[in-house]
Amino acid sequence: MNTTFDPATTPVCQSCGMPLTQPDQLGRHADGTPNPEYCVYCCPEGEEKMTGTLEEMIDFCVPVEVKLGLFPDEPSARAALSAYLPTLRRWKK
Ligand SMILES: [Zn+2]
Repeated sequence: MNTTFDPATTPVCQSCGMPLTQPDQLGRHADGTPNPEYCVYCCPEGEEKMTGTLEEMIDFCVPVEVKLGLFPDEPSARAALSAYLPTLRRWKK
């Protein structure tokens, strides 16, 4: 990841790796309280409702992160995400 945030001090979504820098970016538990482990896109209504595979997450994130300017093109984004996302808690076996 060639972003400027420091992953050691900035919490990131444990599903997609998005840095969570604003309270409104936090996910939600099923009862509506904030879930600081995940972003609101991955986890809008509780971890029980989270679906999809790692491959689907990578396919979803690649064009988004290129569009955001985090990567210059899709192959470099896919290579970085394929290495990074499996280190996040949701995808660890
Ligand atoms: Zn997320």
